[in-house]
Amino acid sequence: MKSIYCSFFGHQYEVSKKITYHVKEYKCTHCSTQMTTNGKGGISPLTPKFKEINSVLERIHNKRMSRLGLKKEKTFHVKNEKNLINFTPHFS
Ligand SMILES: [Zn+2]
Repeated sequence: MKSIYCSFFGHQYEVSKKITYHVKEYKCTHCSTQMTTNGKGGISPLTPKFKEINSVLERIHNKRMSRLGLKKEKTFHVKNEKNLINFTPHFS
């Protein structure tokens, strides 16, 4: 049900779930209406059909990420900064 706030000001969505880099699910902070990124780059109401699509997308995405070892964001530390600063490309 649409809250009074939403009928006055419109929904205020926040990301409730990240499916892939490009697909996210959104939820209105006031009335909990759920939306999702659709295939056309816009957003659509999160229908059971979209939920199904998203769960498949998420599974594929996670599988791909874990295969690449990128599931967890890694922090890269530069062990020897000196090397980086003094690095000069050779074009010989
Ligand atoms: Zn709302």
